[in-house]
Amino acid sequence: MRVGPAGYPDEAKGKTKAVFALLENLGLSALEYAAVYGLRLSEESASRIGILAESNDIQMSMHAAYYISLASKDPQVRERSKQRLVQALRLAPLMQVQRIVFHAGGYSGHTQAEAYSMVKDAISGALEISGRKSKTTFLAPEIAGKTTAFGSPEELIRLCSEVEGCIPTIDWAHLYARSKGEVQTKEHYRRVLQQFEQGLGKVFVDNMHFHVSGIVFGETGEREHRPLGGEWGPDILPLVELVLEMGYKPTFISETPDSTRGALYVKALLQAMEKDDR
Ligand SMILES: [Zn+2]
Repeated sequence: MRVGPAGYPDEAKGKTKAVFALLENLGLSALEYAAVYGLRLSEESASRIGILAESNDIQMSMHAAYYISLASKDPQVRERSKQRLVQALRLAPLMQVQRIVFHAGGYSGHTQAEAYSMVKDAISGALEISGRKSKTTFLAPEIAGKTTAFGSPEELIRLCSEVEGCIPTIDWAHLYARSKGEVQTKEHYRRVLQQFEQGLGKVFVDNMHFHVSGIVFGETGEREHRPLGGEWGPDILPLVELVLEMGYKPTFISETPDSTRGALYVKALLQAMEKDDR
């Protein structure tokens, strides 16, 4: 099991070497590189990140740009969004990134079926252009926090079963928000994981990628991310229990406002529960 923050810890002050040294010293083992405002990296910097990740044993993923919108009304926006995925796929192997996480975007007035085929075309197209040189780099669309955006569990399962090179990112806070607080108990968590496992099998189980944080939601879903372990749901304790019980090996990425602190919270929970098990 691996745990890490979304984005560089503030304490490293943007210094790449310090980022990886800090993560290792904190006992964290994953990092989701934040390219959320675009991926501006030379190949040289990308390789440097990859080397540091490897030597500090940090499993890398990347969060691609927020403004990706694969089902936009505007064909140019769709094309640019696809190209962002192509660019991420090009740099990923240098950075040792195995999973490129992204939000597929809103339905933009399309029916769910129309949006589905647009998203599928864009993702398959990006993978085809990149030639999927690295068979270990996956495009990993995440569960959307808003009901107006593409990314229900059902949509992701269908998409990932139809497109090779695509795996889901389960954002538990988003799922909690879009289901208006439904996912709370171990049985809820179990049902969701079973649904994904039944639909996708080994590729899902071998590449489980989770986002966790607290969240505030309204009528259409997600409003704001919040810390873990406070007054905000979802409670991830039953999830941690279930994962240990089932022997799953997911990567937990903390997307709390202070993501390194959130990651340490997850790690502490895992360690406490493991002790309980013995
Ligand atoms: Zn997320």
